[in-house]
Formats: sequence, structure tokens, C-alpha cells
Amino acid sequence: MTAPAESKSYLDLCQKIAEVKSAFRTRHQGEIKFPDEEIQRRVKENKPLLDIQKLKIEEKLTDEFSRDLLPLLEKHQVFNPEEIANFLANKEKINLSKLTLSILSKDLQSLKPLSTQYQVGTDFLLFVGLNLIQAVLELYADKLKQNVDKENWLKGNCPVCGSYPAIEKLRRDDGKRILHCSLCGTEWHFKRIMCPFCGNEDHNSLKYFFVEEDSPTEKAAFRVDVCDKCKNYIKTIDERKLPESEKPDLYIENLKSIYLDVLAQKDGYKSPTYWMVAPSEVVFV
Ligand SMILES: [Zn+2]
Ligand SMILES: [Zn+2]
Repeated sequence: MTAPAESKSYLDLCQKIAEVKSAFRTRHQGEIKFPDEEIQRRVKENKPLLDIQKLKIEEKLTDEFSRDLLPLLEKHQVFNPEEIANFLANKEKINLSKLTLSILSKDLQSLKPLSTQYQVGTDFLLFVGLNLIQAVLELYADKLKQNVDKENWLKGNCPVCGSYPAIEKLRRDDGKRILHCSLCGTEWHFKRIMCPFCGNEDHNSLKYFFVEEDSPTEKAAFRVDVCDKCKNYIKTIDERKLPESEKPDLYIENLKSIYLDVLAQKDGYKSPTYWMVAPSEVVFV
């Protein structure tokens, strides 16, 4: 896939995926089991509740969600129809559990042999795998997030799954900074002047930029915050600059604002989120 990121079919696809994820969450509400002692222990240790690199994602769930996801990919034609057909024909051999495990452990090298063997792009594998992971981790987040003190976590990584955010918002009511986990969807508070990735608080090396030509439109609410110490960036939506009626869904906004990732990366910044471990020619956020 080359540059479909801002095409209408890509955005429609993302919107549809958000809908099937929401329905999936409703269907499986309350099903996730997680030992109370483990929750208490990790809360006491001030650690994220899940260690996702060791998490064994249930095959039953990934299989079921793939049955929702794959027809959408076929319909929306964002990816090459041939690779979708190849993926579907070899789904069992590709092994979705193994795919999600490789992505969670950031072992993207292992996608390459699969890609060659089954003639499916690594970006396609990553897109499918990440969506499966997100769908399941959102179930975990629903179960676990009541155990975290989101007002006082104040770390740059997610209190539920430990991942870094790709996007954040400045809340309309009080301007507070709310980070959004790009994997499990959890949102939590963070200090206004601090890099979520390295803890840098020096305002001289914390900057942000807008996209000038977009400023008269709603995109004026979008900016990129960068840290010159660790060279990471995060996308920010200032809700106060949006019309009162708009309530941005950060999952969707993240996908809609890939133009900002492209700009930030051109300027030499990176994002340590799972979305951004994609091969360099692909920018999936
Ligand atoms: Zn998370
Ligand atoms: Zn930093």
C-alpha cells in the first residue's frame, strides 16, 4: 500500500472498523478474566496492569474479530484485492495468534517470511494484526481500567497496557492534558509541560507546530508536540478550538491525522507507539 492514508475509502474503513470493534466489545463485555491478586500487586507496584509482551491473546477472540474485520477489508479496497485473497486463502497457516504475538513483542522481522511465503504485504499483516490486538486489548481495558487512578497515574505510558500514546487532547472544559493509548484506548491525565516519552520538562526543548495552511479550518485544533531531547512527537487536539458540538474520538482522529505524522517524521521526529513500528515505507498511525 502506498498512500491511501487520507483517501475517503481509508477513512470509511477506519470508521467501520471502529463500529465493529464497539459491537465486539459489547458482545464480550464481562468475559475477560484477570486475577484480582495480580491487579492489586501491579497497582501497588505502580505498574501498568498488563504486561502485553507476555500476554497470551485468546485465539477464540482474534478468530472471531477477524471474521468481522476481513470482510470490511475486502469491501473497502484500501489494500490490494490480491493480497486480501491470499491472506484469506492462507489464514489458518498464517496463524493469527502468532501474528499478534510477533507484533506485541515488536518482532517485525518475523512478518517478512510470512509476507514472502503467502504474497501478502507486511503492512497488510501489521494492519490486520494491530486491529486484532486493539479489539482484544479494549476488552481488557474495559475490565481493568476501573482499577487505575487515571487522575494520578501521571506517567507517559498507559496505566492499563503500558503502551505509549500517539495522540492526546487538551480537554475543552479545563484545558487539562489527556493522553490516549493507541493500543487499548485508555485515556489518562498528564502534566501539561512534560514529554510523555522521556520526562523532559525543559520548555526550551519542548515545542509544537501547526500546519499553517490548515489554520482557518478545524485542523487549527490539531498540532504536533515534539521533544528535542528524545526526538519523539505526539499529536495533540485542542478541543477548545473545535466547535462546541464536536466531541473528537481520539481513535478516529489519530487515523485521520496521518498527514501530521508524515510531517513530524520528515522533520526527524519519531513516535514510539506500536502503530509506528511499521516498515519505513508505510505510515500507519
Ligand atoms: Zn493501553
Ligand atoms: Zn522527550
